[in-house]
Amino acid sequence: TCGICVEKCPFDAIEIINLPQELQDDPAHRYGENAFSLYGLPAPQEGTVTGILGPNGIGKTTAVRILAGELEPNLGRFEEPPGWDDVLEAYRGTELQDYIADVRDGEVTVARKPQYVDQIPNQFDGNTRELLERTNERDALEYLVERLSIGPVMDQAIDDLSGGELQRVAIAATLARDTDFYFLDEITPYLDIGQRVTAARLIRELAEDDGKSMLVVEHDLAVLDLLADTLHVAYGEPGAYGVITTPKSVRNGINEYLAGYLENENMRIRPNPIEFEEHAPRTVSRADTLVEYPDISKSYGDGEFSLEVEGGRIRQNEVLGIVGPNGIGKSTFAKLLTGDLEPDSGDADLNLDISYKPQYVTIDQHMRVDVFLSSITDQFGSSYWNTEIAQPLQLERIMEQNLSDLSGGERQRVAIAACLSDSADLYLLDEPSAHLDVEQRVQATRAIRRYAEQQDATVLVIDHDIYMIDLLADRLMVFDGEPAVHGRAGTPQSMRGGMNEFLANLEVTFRRDERTSRPRINKPESQLDRQQKREGEYYYAP
Ligand code: ADP
Ligand code: ADP
Repeated sequence: TCGICVEKCPFDAIEIINLPQELQDDPAHRYGENAFSLYGLPAPQEGTVTGILGPNGIGKTTAVRILAGELEPNLGRFEEPPGWDDVLEAYRGTELQDYIADVRDGEVTVARKPQYVDQIPNQFDGNTRELLERTNERDALEYLVERLSIGPVMDQAIDDLSGGELQRVAIAATLARDTDFYFLDEITPYLDIGQRVTAARLIRELAEDDGKSMLVVEHDLAVLDLLADTLHVAYGEPGAYGVITTPKSVRNGINEYLAGYLENENMRIRPNPIEFEEHAPRTVSRADTLVEYPDISKSYGDGEFSLEVEGGRIRQNEVLGIVGPNGIGKSTFAKLLTGDLEPDSGDADLNLDISYKPQYVTIDQHMRVDVFLSSITDQFGSSYWNTEIAQPLQLERIMEQNLSDLSGGERQRVAIAACLSDSADLYLLDEPSAHLDVEQRVQATRAIRRYAEQQDATVLVIDHDIYMIDLLADRLMVFDGEPAVHGRAGTPQSMRGGMNEFLANLEVTFRRDERTSRPRINKPESQLDRQQKREGEYYYAP
């Protein structure tokens, strides 16, 4: 027995020998016999941004419902729930004592940004202005609209907004409210790096200038690092139990998470550490050329948007990262490669079979996941396919579900699997990180890399998660220009050159964490920031 239960541990997952201290105490909440249990709670603090780092399905929503006063925690006593007074007693002397007293007295108000912004159009009929005016409680709307560049879509129907626009509108709607406690479940999906940094700064301002309590779940580690003051790591077994640690410094929390070992908790959460290369990967010159393409141009309609592509070559067996702001022509380039679009000049017909995963994954037929995937590859179910695709993308648990019932993250994983399983000359993945939690990103990164190495495949990945691009890509293709007006795509180049060009456009520099070499965003105008800009080393600084 493991101390929680009298008989056998109901969660086969628990390693009884290495039972963490947290699981020997009472949970904060248990839904029922053999049902999900949550151990520990995040502690929101006035004037502070508190982050949560961990997988989906681990009890974040449960925790927030408790902190919002919607769910009375039962301390594991689901048969005879104890009530708020006993809960308060249980948390006496902890960081949560005052907060729980306020919840008990009905004194906490909460604003929330949902994780899946794609669902907002199903819940709201009207335009952006109407949606935002409903939450305009602290007279900050104009400012938020300006900072988040929402102006151009104010009179557009919510139904017609892109994912990135919906994300910014949802963030504005949440931050416009006047409450004590703000919970934002992921701010980065569909946003480019500039937009991510802006959203992070707005959240920090609300904590620092207005003394609000902010709680943020975020899977983009560079952004989480910039955003949060303190960090709870969450771990456990999705669906069975979740543990939310006591707060750590953001730096230690992320470092321990990447190392796969939580020091205070004496808990290993992953067999292998995730390591970043301190120096740009060496350029390999012996690689053969898969394809060479000329200068290409393409414009839409009467030239509302135009794209100029500088000719280049894609190497056999490389992972080529593609970065640049939203609305700059990255998807347009992808569609030129796949032949879905005809160029105005330049021959983009590459004569290649391309397997393409679009940014917005729309697989939602009424078909089971296993049926869908086995229709794509006859490798389906082979031990190779299971090890290299199904396992790292955590597909086993959802094989029997219908595509139309999947969550955003599940759908993303199925779409990545489908893209890689197809036989093709070139694999093109547009924003594979969207909706994946941090562990799934790590696994997906590994699956994509290994696949490229073992199958001699060539992979193009468009993404805004800098850590993911760093871990994935051999070389970079950088897009710049004026979003929605004109874009320019540079020829593929080395990681160092590419990162420097890309981050110079954004005026963002990274330093290295002393202990782990993990890249961290510098404070603007800090000494390092100024020095690195002078030296032109934005990412792989010595
Ligand atoms: P997260 O927000 O981290 O994805 P949730 O807090 O939504 O996780 O859910 C954690 C687990 O608790 C899930 O396995 C979910 O199925 C389970 N769960 C959520 N609500 C209930 C409930 N009312 N009764 C029983 N189980 C629940
Ligand atoms: P990115 O992938 O970098 O976000 P896109 O290639 O999707 O950029 O879009 C670049 C610009 O072209 C955007 O302003 C977009 O609104 C516009 N655009 C995309 N597709 C069309 C189309 N079919 N007709 C007109 N404009 C389009």
